[in-house]
Amino acid sequence: MSMVFLERPCPVCGLLAKGICSVCFSGFRAPTEVALLEYVDKYMPMFDYNGNFRKAILAGKQAGRVDVIKQLAKLFGHFLLANLDLKGTEVTWVPASKFAKRRRGFDQGKVIASSVVKGSDMRMARYLVRESHVSQTGKGRFHRLLGPKFRVIGEPPKTLLIVDDVVTTGASINAAANVFRKAGCTKIYAASLAYVQPR
Ligand SMILES: [Zn+2]
Repeated sequence: MSMVFLERPCPVCGLLAKGICSVCFSGFRAPTEVALLEYVDKYMPMFDYNGNFRKAILAGKQAGRVDVIKQLAKLFGHFLLANLDLKGTEVTWVPASKFAKRRRGFDQGKVIASSVVKGSDMRMARYLVRESHVSQTGKGRFHRLLGPKFRVIGEPPKTLLIVDDVVTTGASINAAANVFRKAGCTKIYAASLAYVQPR
């Protein structure tokens, strides 16, 4: 059996690399302001959803580049371990709508959660179910503020980290944190690959 190393173009500039190239990576910026989420103790986004980062994420989501999402998620794991005290914290994710999952072929939140726990002693579990399967994509900021409805399944721990790919208003992740509070969680962290700063 021969080994095949797949070189896949950088989703930002098109250069043949293993995913996002180092030049494009160095252009990603941290957000300068962060949303305050009522039910979340601390929210940590890694990057501002700017032009280049947006291209990378869209490639991951729309062109089925799970390798790009995995590459970003690996870095995200290091970022979170360096910035949050995650001892005893379990990782869960905001599940994608059925529609989004079918279109992409994978649930990006789950891929992100797996990469975050990989190589750490944290465990991950699914604790959320979407009550409505209406996609958030293409809705205006006002409608996004309403957020989807979630239901908690299983027995979530007291301390939880909720991960997501891109947070716009924070309505989804805040709605998720709210149902976890009601289910008895006392410390809730939230984190995303990127945050869309209001402009
Ligand atoms: Zn590039």
